[in-house]
Amino acid sequence: MVLEKSERQNEFIENMVIIGSGPAGYTAAIYAARANLKPVLITGFESGGIPGGQLMTTTFVENFPGFPDGVSGPELMDRIKSQAIKWGTELIEADAEEIDLSTRPFKLKADGNTIKSHSLIIATGARANRLGLPNEERFWSRGISACAICDGATPQFRKEELAVIGGGDSACEEAVYLTKYGSRVHLIVRSKHLKASAAMAERVMSNKMINIHWETKALDVNGNGWLQQLHLIERNTKQERKLKVKGLFYAIGHTPNTELVATQLELKTNGYIHTKPGRPETSIKGVFAAGDVCDSEWRQGITAAASGCQAALAAEQWLTRNSLAKLIDRDEKIESNPSPPENTEITLQNIYDPKALWQKGGFALRKLYHESTSPLLVVYTSPNCGPCHILKPQLKRVIEDLKGLAKGIEINIESDQEIAKKAGINGTPTVQLFQHKVLKNQWQGVKQRSIFKEAINQLLKNK
Ligand SMILES: Cc1cc2nc3c(=O)[nH]c(=O)nc-3n(C[C@H](O)[C@H](O)[C@H](O)COP(=O)(O)OP(=O)(O)OC[C@H]3O[C@@H](n4cnc5c(N)ncnc54)[C@H](O)[C@@H]3O)c2cc1C
Repeated sequence: MVLEKSERQNEFIENMVIIGSGPAGYTAAIYAARANLKPVLITGFESGGIPGGQLMTTTFVENFPGFPDGVSGPELMDRIKSQAIKWGTELIEADAEEIDLSTRPFKLKADGNTIKSHSLIIATGARANRLGLPNEERFWSRGISACAICDGATPQFRKEELAVIGGGDSACEEAVYLTKYGSRVHLIVRSKHLKASAAMAERVMSNKMINIHWETKALDVNGNGWLQQLHLIERNTKQERKLKVKGLFYAIGHTPNTELVATQLELKTNGYIHTKPGRPETSIKGVFAAGDVCDSEWRQGITAAASGCQAALAAEQWLTRNSLAKLIDRDEKIESNPSPPENTEITLQNIYDPKALWQKGGFALRKLYHESTSPLLVVYTSPNCGPCHILKPQLKRVIEDLKGLAKGIEINIESDQEIAKKAGINGTPTVQLFQHKVLKNQWQGVKQRSIFKEAINQLLKNK
């Protein structure tokens, strides 16, 4: 169940609030919900990742038990989410903005609400690091990206030389993935070895489209509006050289999302949340941590899920020992099948409907762009892009809520390359808002529904 702002009652004290919707958060929710604790889970939205967590940015997960043929990251997360909802977890689709661990019950702010809870599970995961090159900001989203899966299909990268920085599993996975789009992929590795698993390293080293540059570091990037050159230095010889690339993808590790609690909980020297060895208890009683936010070593979907389970069981025991647990009878078990990968049919001339709220493809875009007077929300997506998968249903809800006052269109940049090029799209998801053939707003990445609603309402007001 997803709660809207007005549905929350500020005086109520929750048994358990879980922050984060990766494998750790959702698994904790499944266990707590099955124990009739009716947990509230704050999914996160923009700060520190996207709903569903890091697996939303990967293509195929081949090592999660129960999927002998592998499963896409977004599908796996949809299934785990669905299981958490089925057993009665309440979701708040927003970022947790503040946490106060100095009072009991603990207090949190999210989506304009203050939420009180006897126990907390912090499962906020980790986010991709940046290199901090002198010109990095200038070329961010203009050639530099931290997500090959989201941005690899961008027209500017097609048949061009691309580079990936890093030597771990993510870097190798991204390098192999990018060979689908680039003419050649350069893997820039700081050391003499790949840190990736043996199987992954082998896939990269045997791929003729990938050049590995060992013991090499990036010094800077350059270009003219769009990235054109990567400036490198060999670590031993100190020899500098320039590599012509149109795309640069970072895969250089992660930083734990601890900003909300950094001054309140004990952290390890590397910034990860300190927990009792092998256990989820943090330095404050009633606060538990799970997943990548407290694990700098294993960092896997299954280890995050397992620690989410531990955190929920430990929190349940703690609530019971302190006579704080209020067991809440579940309503009838909600039947909740994981939503199948959503695939709206491409709108061709024979099924085009000027009144339809949501359509897909270039034909509908051209028709509505020229003929409709309503605001037009166009979302550019690419296949396997987890953030696109998160954003699309949010946009559809915005359009539905506006009851026909605005229209939505999806453009797959892989099948509609020309349109993406003309629209200047350099990563997915990108959303453009048009009215009367004029581009009024543009956003990149996952944003809260309220942002799109406000922008459309503004256009409607000025009409
Ligand atoms: C490209 C890539 C490929 C991978 N492939 C695999 C694989 O094949 N197999 C495997 O087992 N593992 C894989 N991993 C690792 C795996 O994704 C992580 O170990 C796992 O997702 C960690 O789960 P988590 O729940 O701890 O955190 P995350 O998945 O990082 O989720 C954290 C959650 O916290 C939320 N959050 C952050 N800040 C806030 C806030 N302020 N308020 C509310 N919510 C917040 C985020 O939105 C997110 O939902 C891969 C990772 C990457 C990056």
